[in-house]
Amino acid sequence: MRSYVAEARRRVGPRRLRIRPVIERLAREHPDATIALRFRNDLELLVSVMLSAQTTDVTVNRVTEKLFRTYQRPEDYLAVPLEELEQDLKPTGTFRQKARNLRAAMAMLLEEFDGEVPLRIDELVRLPGVGRKTANVVASERGATQGVVVDTHVRRLSQRLGFTRHEDPVKIERDLRRLVPREDWARLPHLLIWHGRRVCLARRPCCERCVVNDLCPSSRV
Ligand code: SF4
Repeated sequence: MRSYVAEARRRVGPRRLRIRPVIERLAREHPDATIALRFRNDLELLVSVMLSAQTTDVTVNRVTEKLFRTYQRPEDYLAVPLEELEQDLKPTGTFRQKARNLRAAMAMLLEEFDGEVPLRIDELVRLPGVGRKTANVVASERGATQGVVVDTHVRRLSQRLGFTRHEDPVKIERDLRRLVPREDWARLPHLLIWHGRRVCLARRPCCERCVVNDLCPSSRV
């Protein structure tokens, strides 16, 4: 098994030489690869990304379409009883925890950031319920990319493509930051996410119709 993996790695060559062609081919294959969440401002972006944990972007968009009509400022999330906010978030799952985190995050925005969503990762991750992945998404979508978003698709594809051997998202991000040209930190996660949804599926990767199968040590063709 070990020799098979080593042989596959030798066949495709070092990752430093593969990263650019992989990005270019995926960009041609998925020209529409952008964030699927719908939002109109920084606050809506933050809330959408916080709600997207453990659920689909489609569900979040369905919930926020109604939510954002009622909740337009940080104060609005604090003005209703907690139970009411929980009910508004219910379809997104883990709604009690999400409601508590949202209220605590909104309170901190008001107390420490004049009601504005900060741009810096180290400030974003101080908000309750905001981890590094959420912070990276929020910063990147506002043109202030400071890291590489690592979600379940980015982790799986980075491993299959031989860009990392780690499981821990923090270590995977560290590998990607070293490997990926900085100008591609924002778009690579979108490309991997869409390739993961359409081609490199978790259970059955469709290697035969994958545009990077000659560059992938995990290819089955
Ligand atoms: S060749 Fe297969 S495993 Fe590799 S990225 Fe493409 S679909 Fe995924």
